Amino acid sequence: MRPIQARISIGAMAHNLRVARSHAGDARLFAVVKANAYGHGLSRARRALAAADGFAVLTLEEAANLRLMGVEQPIVLLEGLFGADEIAACVELDLWPVLHRPAQLDWLQQQPPARPLQVFLKFDTGMHRLGFPLADHAAVVARTKRLAGVAGITLMTHFAQADEAAGVAWQLRPFLEELSAHGLPWSSANSAALLRYPESRGAWARPGLMLYGASPFAETTADQLGLRPAMTLRSEIIGVQQLRAGEGVGYGQLFRADRPTAVGVVACGYADGYPRHAPTGTPVLVDGRVSRTLGRVSMDMLCVDLSDCPGAGVGSPVVLWGEGMPVDAVATAAGTSSYELLCALAARVPVEETD
Ligand SMILES: *Cc1c(COP(=O)(O)O)cnc(C)c1O
Repeated sequence: MRPIQARISIGAMAHNLRVARSHAGDARLFAVVKANAYGHGLSRARRALAAADGFAVLTLEEAANLRLMGVEQPIVLLEGLFGADEIAACVELDLWPVLHRPAQLDWLQQQPPARPLQVFLKFDTGMHRLGFPLADHAAVVARTKRLAGVAGITLMTHFAQADEAAGVAWQLRPFLEELSAHGLPWSSANSAALLRYPESRGAWARPGLMLYGASPFAETTADQLGLRPAMTLRSEIIGVQQLRAGEGVGYGQLFRADRPTAVGVVACGYADGYPRHAPTGTPVLVDGRVSRTLGRVSMDMLCVDLSDCPGAGVGSPVVLWGEGMPVDAVATAAGTSSYELLCALAARVPVEETD
């Protein structure tokens, strides 16, 4: 069998939820499990995160699956209704849609749900992606309150720079100033805000990334935040090459040896979800030692430097990311984010679930 495997730890996710809880004060937690729980598997995540107060997903299908799995907590649809035809399912599955544009209010007015729904009312405070303009809040809240199909409103916004030096105050202050008069519960915090800005907790926080054991911050590691990696992508060396000085390796011969170099060929490529644009020098754990990739990542293989791994050969274990090799370090070297790497784990990679 091809030796690649993703080990996904239920215990690590449960631990990371406890870390989220320790930052949440009185706020309740929506565990964000969109994108197949950031690549970890929806069913697995819902078991690991069963102690969450709710779950947040993108699609009706994900929500329906969670209900089939027995989830009884609230489920929020982060992008809300994509059409009026989704209202009935929200009633049936008891979902909380996010309302972020006028058409969604029109749908609820024209086709009132059989039972009133809890909704999140999303305001744009600077991200400029989804949400009603903050300046329209008086009219939007008043209209939503008048809808017979709405049982309760939680105000919501999303931060653009919670993980950066710019922080959340420039969005949170106007959000709270403008909306406090309505006296409604509110929700703003993603992982970065929950970890760094207690004033952003509100009634509901919405952590995602941290539950999977990655850090939202460039300058703080997941380990420093007390998080444990939930996914370890591992494989083995399936071939060894001895390069002479001047010889290259892989497509484009992007790496050329300046001295005799032992190269390990690893059974992992971009069709497994490893980033093709990871350059020579991307960190990788080979036989328990930190080494580096060499040359271009291929579809099914990549090459690693064995210079400082004297005992390594065919069959030696390789950790692409996870335990012993932070996914954040790989992401940084590859010019991307841990979000993208975790979500991109390919369906062809066998998963082994661990405690
Ligand atoms: C994905 C998402 C989150 C979770 O963000 P993390 O950075 O992964 O914690 C929270 N809120 C909304 C609206 C999202 O789309």
